[in-house]
Amino acid sequence: MRIIVTGGAGFIGSHVVEDLISNGHEVHVLDNFSTGSRDWLHPSALIHAGDIRRRAVVSLIHSIQPDVIVHLAAQADVKQSQENPYDDLAVNASGTIRLLQACTSLKNTHFIFASTSAIYGDQSHTTITENDSLQPSSCYGLSKWTAEQYIRLFSQQYELRSSILRFANVYGPRQTPKGEGGVIALFTDRILHNKPLLIHGDGEQTRDFIYVKDVSGAIQSVAEYHLYDTFNVSTGKSVSINELSLIYEQLSGRNIERQWGEKRIGDIRHSCLSANKLQQLSTWRPSYSLHQGLALTWQYAAAFQSV
Ligand code: NAD
Repeated sequence: MRIIVTGGAGFIGSHVVEDLISNGHEVHVLDNFSTGSRDWLHPSALIHAGDIRRRAVVSLIHSIQPDVIVHLAAQADVKQSQENPYDDLAVNASGTIRLLQACTSLKNTHFIFASTSAIYGDQSHTTITENDSLQPSSCYGLSKWTAEQYIRLFSQQYELRSSILRFANVYGPRQTPKGEGGVIALFTDRILHNKPLLIHGDGEQTRDFIYVKDVSGAIQSVAEYHLYDTFNVSTGKSVSINELSLIYEQLSGRNIERQWGEKRIGDIRHSCLSANKLQQLSTWRPSYSLHQGLALTWQYAAAFQSV
C-alpha cells in the first residue's frame, strides 16, 4: 500500500514508519520536524517537510494518491496546550481539517486519526469504553475531541473512510519527556542522570501504559481489516505512578529518591481503557507486558547515553 504518515518523524510515528516499511509498504512522511527528528526516520521513508496547516498539503496529498493516511502530527504536550491553547487548536483541529479537505476528492483513501484517552477526562468508573461520555479536562483533550468531530462530519458528508484510534499512554524508545504520556520518558531521563523522580500529586493516580510497538501494530490492523470506526488502543490494565516508579527503579538497578510535588492542571486521576472492541474485530492484541516494555525502553536509553 502507499501510505502517508503525518508526524512520521515523531516518537510514535517513527516506529509506525519503520514497521510499515518492514512490511513492504511505500511510506511517505509529512512532518515539520517541530518535535520529530530526521535521525529517527527509516532510510527508505520518502520525506516531505511541511506543515499540515498549509494549503500546499492538499496538492501534495493529491499528487501522492495514498491508500491510507495515518494522521499522527499534533501538538501532543498537555502542558503546552494549557499555556498556548490557540496553537494547540490550530495544529490539532485546523491541521486535521486541512487533511480532511484533501481527502474529500480521494474517495478510496482510509484516514486513520490518532486520538487520545485525554478526551474522556475524569470518569467515575474504572474501565472506559468507546461509548463512555467525553469530558476532556485539558485543552489538548478538547482539541483532539474537536478534530474527532470534524472527522465524523466529513466522513458523513463525503463518504470518507475513517478510523479514530484513542491511544492510552504510549511509551517506548525515542519518547522525549515533553510529550503526552511523558512520565516514563521523564523517569528514564531522571534515572539516567541519577536525579530524584518527581511525582505530581500523591502518585496514586493511575495510567494505562501501552508499548509503542503495540500501538503501531494496532494502526496496521485497523488498516488491514478496513475497520472504519472509533477504537481504544490500550492494555486494559492500569498502574499507579508510585508503583511505576518502584518497578522502574528495580528494573534499572539504581537506587533513586522520589519526591512528591503539586498536582498539575488538567491531570486525570484514573485512566484505564478497554480495547475489547478492537480485539473482537481483529487479531490485534497488546503483546508487551509493562515489565518487557520498560526493560526495552531502559535498554535503549542506557545504550544511547553510553554512545
Ligand atoms: P510527537 O511530538 O513525538 O510527534 C508528533 C510529530 O508531529 C512530530 O514529528 C512533529 O514534528 C510533527 N508535527 C507537529 N506539528 C506539526 C505540524 N503542524 N505539521 C507537520 N508535522 C507536525 O508525539 P507522539 O507522542 O509521537 O504523538 C503522536 C500522535 O499520537 C499525536 O497525534 C498524539 O496526540 C497522539 N497520542 C500520543 C500519545 C502518547 O502517549 N505519546 C497518547 C495518545 C495520543
